[in-house]
Amino acid sequence: MNGRPVAVVTGGSRGIGRGIVLSLAGAGYDVVVNYASNADAAREVGKEVEARGGRAHLVRADVSQRTDRRELIDQTVATFGRLDLLVSNAGVAPTVRADLLEAEEESFDRLIEINLKGPYFLVQLAARTMIEQQAAGIVSNPKIVIVSSISAYTASVNRGDYCVSKAGLAMTAQLYATRLAEHGINVYEIRPGIIETDMTGGVKDRYDDLIFNQGLTPIRRWGQPEDVGRAVVAVATDLLPFSTGQIIDVDGGFHLRTL
Ligand code: NAP
Repeated sequence: MNGRPVAVVTGGSRGIGRGIVLSLAGAGYDVVVNYASNADAAREVGKEVEARGGRAHLVRADVSQRTDRRELIDQTVATFGRLDLLVSNAGVAPTVRADLLEAEEESFDRLIEINLKGPYFLVQLAARTMIEQQAAGIVSNPKIVIVSSISAYTASVNRGDYCVSKAGLAMTAQLYATRLAEHGINVYEIRPGIIETDMTGGVKDRYDDLIFNQGLTPIRRWGQPEDVGRAVVAVATDLLPFSTGQIIDVDGGFHLRTL
């Protein structure tokens, strides 16, 4: 097997996805940077990949759309000829946080489509490609990373739709880890805690108070996209070869119970 490995990172243009893309470029990967609408941000990330010696290919694709998912994988194979790593990271928060007793079905449907159904079927497509390429000797032990959230197990009654979508994503990782082990494909779930991105920009003051004054996380700082990027690189560079379905908490210790 020759050449640089290739990763697809959904939502790679901003926030956590951008941190993952740059970490992977630094680790020797060429990267397909997926985005939904903000082409300028994706172009900037592409330049940063090239500055790190990697190649970047930008693909606009809405992960909730079947034809876009197909296009994303097809363009990856057409451009680079191989797929070593899928990082399913793209996701959205509800446009309006609404109490469980008031929340609308439209928001629920939107979050399930983008955060759960899209990744579920994108992983399926990527896995089929990886199985074929592994049999053909094009890649060796490709991997899949699913970015979920502490919301997979933390009840926030003002965004139940988001929590349900992330809980479903956690099971998605378990399912594919079980199914794909026989094909030599390990699957990991990365659970970020509170990470400083556009998504959390609107609640910054509240989280500042929780982290710095109330000790919500034992490690008293905001998580950075690079924290997640480094966890992805650990997986991508085969540091966890006998682990699959593993949940990797990148949350400053948020998940710890204390008394
Ligand atoms: P962000 O800053 O809002 O960035 C979201 C990224 O996803 C952007 O690149 C965006 O593309 C892309 N995207 C949005 N909808 C998409 C779609 N339908 N198809 C393809 N790409 C799409 O969000 P983030 O904070 O980095 O979050 C990334 C992931 O981590 C999400 O799954 C989120 O749920 C999860 N997470 C975040 C936190 C946190 O504290 N920030 C904590 C736990 C989990 P455009 O630029 O084109 O819009």
